[in-house]
Amino acid sequence: MKVPFIDLQAHHRNISIKLLKKIEQIFYNADFVLGRNVTFFEKKFAEYCGVNYCIGVNSGTDAIFLALKSLDLNRGDEVITAANTFVATVEAIKAAGCRPILVDILPDTYNLNPDEIKKKITKKTRVIMPVHLYGQPVDMDPVLEVAKEYNLFVIEDAAQAHGAMYKGKKVGSLGDVACFSFYPTKNLGACGDAGAIVTNNEKIASKLKKLRNHGGIVKYQHDFSGYNSRLDSIQAAILTTKLEYLDQWNRKRQENAEVYNKLLKNVSEITTPKVDINVTHVYHLYVIKLEIGSRDQLRKYLKDKGIITEIHYPRPIHFIKAFRYLGYKEGDFPIAEECAKKIISLPMYPSLRHEQIEYVVQEIKNFIKEELL
Ligand SMILES: *Cc1c(COP(=O)(O)O)cnc(C)c1O
Repeated sequence: MKVPFIDLQAHHRNISIKLLKKIEQIFYNADFVLGRNVTFFEKKFAEYCGVNYCIGVNSGTDAIFLALKSLDLNRGDEVITAANTFVATVEAIKAAGCRPILVDILPDTYNLNPDEIKKKITKKTRVIMPVHLYGQPVDMDPVLEVAKEYNLFVIEDAAQAHGAMYKGKKVGSLGDVACFSFYPTKNLGACGDAGAIVTNNEKIASKLKKLRNHGGIVKYQHDFSGYNSRLDSIQAAILTTKLEYLDQWNRKRQENAEVYNKLLKNVSEITTPKVDINVTHVYHLYVIKLEIGSRDQLRKYLKDKGIITEIHYPRPIHFIKAFRYLGYKEGDFPIAEECAKKIISLPMYPSLRHEQIEYVVQEIKNFIKEELL
């Protein structure tokens, strides 16, 4: 049996006719950038997140970059975020002229540890950027409390958590601003690059509408020097169609996680994901930890059986060459460092079949029996 890490072909099989019809209509109207389709998607996605405004942009990375740009920060201002995240989080912070300040993660949810934030606050701190990693919301109440106490902005990096909830509220509605990626493999994915920023703050929203479009909304009227980071009509139309399926797809992911959890329950060498009591996890990724033996050996064993796995992420941010300039050293974020050595992401997507999950777990058990015991 083959179990790819993700199967975008299967994912699109049932909706491709619907999507192609929409694309055909856009060709007919030749309304390619921004326009009606984008405005409509923005309305729908804002509603979905339970916020007032959504601004469609080029990518999730741009969403973070522009969200920071909308806050009128000074060069060198500090943004506190997690040591374990996709590199784009810190790249966008750097690109916006700010300095990423890392905090360690929690060993069970892999999300940033809210108790670590206060220790990192300086006179230059302006923003806290929690990352809802793997599809599980960060414990936001303590984050929001610190932000309030020190008068800091909270920007959610929700690129992996479309539809996830914290205490009954959708991610995207928890901080001042939130950033989404619609990279094709995300829970809500375009057929190309796309992203969005959501907020309840009217001033920030109207600044963002200009920032993404050369500093203005009306043609040739530029209030300030902006960027070109517009969402295009084809991606917006695709996203509008796919948004109708998002909850259903997330439920499938949750069901698949349940199957993995149940089958791995009595395997003491494997730690399955821990879900906080206050959240719904939407399993962008299903990440396990191999507590003994070689994670890389397990990955190779599975690969030989046709099962593809990944690591998210093999290196915490402070071990990435491009971010050595931050001056952190080994031992600064011990939990992120430890997890990076042990974690494995198993195949996880809505179209993953139960028999495939059974096969993956059986082969994990075979590996443990043959190689570890
Ligand atoms: C995917 C992702 C991004 C970047 O999104 P792109 O659309 O690929 O630019 C940022 N942060 C996190 C946590 C992500 O997973």
